[in-house]
Amino acid sequence: MQAAIDNFAVSHYCRICHRERANERFSGKGHTDHVCKECKTLPNDARRHVEELDEILGFLTQSHISGKNIERLKILVTSSDQEVASLASVVLEIGKIRPYKKRRLQVLAKEHKDLFTRLEELELLEVMQPY
Ligand SMILES: [Zn+2]
Repeated sequence: MQAAIDNFAVSHYCRICHRERANERFSGKGHTDHVCKECKTLPNDARRHVEELDEILGFLTQSHISGKNIERLKILVTSSDQEVASLASVVLEIGKIRPYKKRRLQVLAKEHKDLFTRLEELELLEVMQPY
């Protein structure tokens, strides 16, 4: 059991593949970047894809989508990455209609059914809990 605990103590979280990985999976700078060696070899586009999706999902889980977030989303909407652009457009719309998280889903479900349906399709309802 001791070995397992030790192993856990030296493991690091990779923010790209979302895995807890052993210390030796990270190289010098990878430690501070929280990116494992494997993910470091990914093309920049692939890394940016994950980082931008995470960033957008982060806005959704905040208690408030700020004006600064909205400006950032406006840039992401124009991304050539379709998944990033479409997620950004949904979150941008939410940010304009209902920047505060409180009762957000109830309001969207009642007054903005189209948007609510898109959230359902993107499987975002779970991310946005509790509502
Ligand atoms: Zn990784």
